[in-house]
Amino acid sequence: MKTCPEELIDYMHDYLDGDITSENEQKLKHHLQQCEECQHHFHELKKAIAFVQSTSHISAPDDFTNKVMDRLPKEKKKVGRRREMAPPPSAADGGCSIHLLYDRKCVCLME
Ligand SMILES: [Zn+2]
Repeated sequence: MKTCPEELIDYMHDYLDGDITSENEQKLKHHLQQCEECQHHFHELKKAIAFVQSTSHISAPDDFTNKVMDRLPKEKKKVGRRREMAPPPSAADGGCSIHLLYDRKCVCLME
């Protein structure tokens, strides 16, 4: 079984991210021309990305609601309203992009 250079896989991801140097692109294309295995892998990668792109804007993932519930302060479920509970999580750090305002607290949904 022949082995392919590991960086070829990186090149594939770089290429699909639109973030590849022309030098690496040449190497990738050159290799793909002679390696069926990598052609197949590359094809699968492209399909996976096309699938994600085609669905990501349509609906939230199925577990979205569960994730939201998990992130809510646990005390709320058990004890009800106790305003002196945990301080609001900081929205400024972590670079997260989705927030949910819950009882005036910002609940970050992204790690
Ligand atoms: Zn290969």
